[in-house]
Amino acid sequence: MSNAEAASEVVRSGTRGESTAGVEVLSARDVPLGGPRALQVRRTIPQRARTLIGAWCFSDHYGPVEVAAGGMDLPPHPHTGLQTVSWLFSGTIEHRDSLGTHSFIRPGELNLMTGGRGIAHSEVSTAETTVLHGVQLWVALPEAHRDAGRDFQHHVPEPVRIDGAELRVFLGSLDGETSPVRTFTPLLGAQLDLDPHATVTLPVDPGFEHGLLVDTGDVQLDGTSVPPAELGYVAPGVDVLTVTNRSDAPARTILLGGPPFEEEIVMWWNFVVRDHEEILRARQEWEDATDRFGDVEGYHGRRLPAPPVPDVIMTPRRNPPRRTAP
Ligand code: MN
Repeated sequence: MSNAEAASEVVRSGTRGESTAGVEVLSARDVPLGGPRALQVRRTIPQRARTLIGAWCFSDHYGPVEVAAGGMDLPPHPHTGLQTVSWLFSGTIEHRDSLGTHSFIRPGELNLMTGGRGIAHSEVSTAETTVLHGVQLWVALPEAHRDAGRDFQHHVPEPVRIDGAELRVFLGSLDGETSPVRTFTPLLGAQLDLDPHATVTLPVDPGFEHGLLVDTGDVQLDGTSVPPAELGYVAPGVDVLTVTNRSDAPARTILLGGPPFEEEIVMWWNFVVRDHEEILRARQEWEDATDRFGDVEGYHGRRLPAPPVPDVIMTPRRNPPRRTAP
């Protein structure tokens, strides 16, 4: 995905408020994606109230949307300092990148692309795709690995039945299931589909913070309602999460987690960097078509131009002070 909100999006993290008990519900805002055919997505992070959950730094949720009129077409665009996770519920996206990867992203299949120092990719929904529905997630790379080489990992987690739900662990470990996919910081990423009127209790790492993104269902996280398209956040310090579906129909959710990411980052467009100068340099290298990002072969069309140089110097944007538990 390419972040069209970028021109005004500056996020700096690293300073955290006091943690508080309970579940914080983060609403989504509608954002048009870049490219010739704008797809509307619902973005839950980053936002003013929260910039990261573990190293997860970006959560876009989209569809179900009918795409008979041509679908998603994102021309080659760059990434640096991050990994992208494409996870679909329906539809198929054709992926090409400057590592030379050509693959099809299908529902229930993890595709983890490492931008590291620099990568470029295109994403186009296939002609057969009639409905697009899924999430696009980004992972910030820690200082020691943010110049990592380009990489692309594909993994299809086996759906596992647990009492009241079906679980697909695509990154990290949950309830005895472990993904073999390598990450640079500890992470959790899983799809949890609950049966109608089911409650599941999940043992989790108390060193992790967690976010539950609800796709469908009448879902409660630890007793707090999290409406569809919104995300329930739980601070570190708990070793169990309880998820309930009060609907007569199944519920679909995505659970994200990781230890708090303590480094300061700045996000602009499709870059995760550390300061203003790095944004300007990465932007210029994309505009100059240097080998930092490389070429995407096989995409018929022009690459995405970078937005204009940001007209503000990055000002720190921090998590606001948290409510203290009564
Ligand atoms: Mn992208």
